[in-house]
Amino acid sequence: MLTPEVEIFEVDIAIVGAGPAGLAAAREVSAAGATAALLDSYSRPGGQYFKQPPRAFRAKQPGRLHHDYLLPQTLFGVVAESPRLTLLTDTTVWTAYAGPEGFSLHCYRPDQGGLEVRAKKVILAPGAHDRALPFPGWDLPGVMTAGAIQTLAKSQRVLPGRKIVLSGSGPFLLPVAALLAESGANLVGVFEAARPRDIFRYSASAWAGRAKLGEGAGYLRVLRHFGVPYKFGRAVVRAEGRERVERVSVARLNSDWSIVPDSLETLEADAVGVGYGFSPSLDLSQLLGCEHRYDPVQAASFAVHDPRQQSTRPGVFVAGEICGIGGSAVALPQGAVAGLAAALDLSRVPARPDDTARLAKYQAEARQAQAFAGTLNRMFALQPGWQTWATPETIICRCEEVTLGRVRTAISEFDLKNVKAVKLTTRCGMGLCQGRVCGPLVIAYTASLTGRDPAVIGSFTNRPIVRPIPLGELAR
Ligand SMILES: Cc1cc2nc3c(=O)[nH]c(=O)nc-3n(C[C@H](O)[C@H](O)[C@H](O)COP(=O)(O)OP(=O)(O)OC[C@H]3O[C@@H](n4cnc5c(N)ncnc54)[C@H](O)[C@@H]3O)c2cc1C
Repeated sequence: MLTPEVEIFEVDIAIVGAGPAGLAAAREVSAAGATAALLDSYSRPGGQYFKQPPRAFRAKQPGRLHHDYLLPQTLFGVVAESPRLTLLTDTTVWTAYAGPEGFSLHCYRPDQGGLEVRAKKVILAPGAHDRALPFPGWDLPGVMTAGAIQTLAKSQRVLPGRKIVLSGSGPFLLPVAALLAESGANLVGVFEAARPRDIFRYSASAWAGRAKLGEGAGYLRVLRHFGVPYKFGRAVVRAEGRERVERVSVARLNSDWSIVPDSLETLEADAVGVGYGFSPSLDLSQLLGCEHRYDPVQAASFAVHDPRQQSTRPGVFVAGEICGIGGSAVALPQGAVAGLAAALDLSRVPARPDDTARLAKYQAEARQAQAFAGTLNRMFALQPGWQTWATPETIICRCEEVTLGRVRTAISEFDLKNVKAVKLTTRCGMGLCQGRVCGPLVIAYTASLTGRDPAVIGSFTNRPIVRPIPLGELAR
């Protein structure tokens, strides 16, 4: 039976995302004396970096499941104990709009009535999702994102297969590989597309992040201990199998990531994890009319913000991965800045003597962490040769089953010039995931096929319903 009522919950500040950025924002909002609702689709707070296993799981050594065990415990404690904070998990914000009094966020809660959160300010900290690059067979069962493999292993304690291969680029492959190796997986190999000489030319500026480099070295030691091969300048460029993946072809890559001729090596594998960094979750910031800017190094657009983390839409603050991929070291201080700045903008919150100094401290921390993140992003930047891995038959939009050949033909036949036109002509991005997976790929292909700058060819138009919801929810 459908409950027609929609519960209305009013707070000073609505925070979307209970990851590092959202948790840090909530702490500052509460400390300043304002009220906030912290909304997250998952059943427990933590986001990606502080991800917690389901409640039903009992860990003998919970510290081993967490990065920086004490910090998230402190943040979870603040959220649980503050009378001014309300944590709403299993709660997905599916639409948002601005009204004369502030903002309305409509939330879907499975098996519960509808919820509308009304707030004077909004902090968006929705994080990012994995980026996979297409190759023939990337849509076979058993081929998944590295993040999905990490979630299976970390949250569910399940290994994805008996012979696992990881392929991609960036430091995120390392914690996934180390987790699998320590969990007893048969990890056939880890293939990093970037080549050492392309990575090490940035090593001087990487020194600033030596603590993080130390974490990376720790993961490499785990791989060495378990005898897992970790190879640079290589990538899985084909997956084959009847019902599911049975084998992969690993190629040596040139510095532009095109395949070195006659370099293919075949490996047996029944699970493949693919991870080429992350794409920011921009659906809500686009819906609320915030401005975004394309970053050629990260090959993605990000929310534009001022030094107080306020977006170009007054009252909407942004923090974490939607401002630039920088990991938790950036997300935490940015969230703190957003929380403090949003609270101070409320007329009923009195300023404290140390507010300015606190804001400046968090801003400095964010800038320092961003400098290191920028170096990592340059070290592992996508190179255009990946576009040569897929064949015309390779499906690019998996929801609508649109092939690369169809995208190419549509662009040349109808002389398409932008991504919206490609979407309308081919149905790319019109399916369940609304372009979260194929969006960055279609932007890249359209740019190179039309010879235009990715910064000017636009992105998919955002729909008012940003997450899949049942029709009953809409009826409410
Ligand atoms: C799959 C995956 C695994 C990762 N693992 C690591 C790792 O091991 N080590 C590492 O250094 N970095 C990892 N990262 C990078 C990670 O994004 C950052 O390090 C850090 O977690 C970013 O913090 P954040 O607060 O910006 O976002 P997140 O931690 O991603 O938190 C965002 C939260 O927002 C919620 N959310 C988003 N949209 C909505 C909505 N519409 N309604 C309700 N809730 C919403 C999400 O459920 C999520 O919990 C991972 C990223 C991904 C995508």
